[in-house]
Amino acid sequence: MIVVVGLIIAFALILIFSDRRTRNCRWRRDRRRDADGMHFHRCMTCGHEVWTEGEKPPKMCYSNAPDK
Ligand SMILES: [Zn+2]
Repeated sequence: MIVVVGLIIAFALILIFSDRRTRNCRWRRDRRRDADGMHFHRCMTCGHEVWTEGEKPPKMCYSNAPDK
């Protein structure tokens, strides 16, 4: 069981550090702004606000997005 958890953590760390786009983004969950089953996240770095279908925050930073 511990081995499985360790593998999951290792995999998560690889995902986090392999994707440089998320390096400057710090997503914060705010359940008060959830709507229609979507989960609200706000980036503390660039201020972008998004709703995701899953609990996990977006995998990219929107600081360089065209609409920002
Ligand atoms: Zn950001």
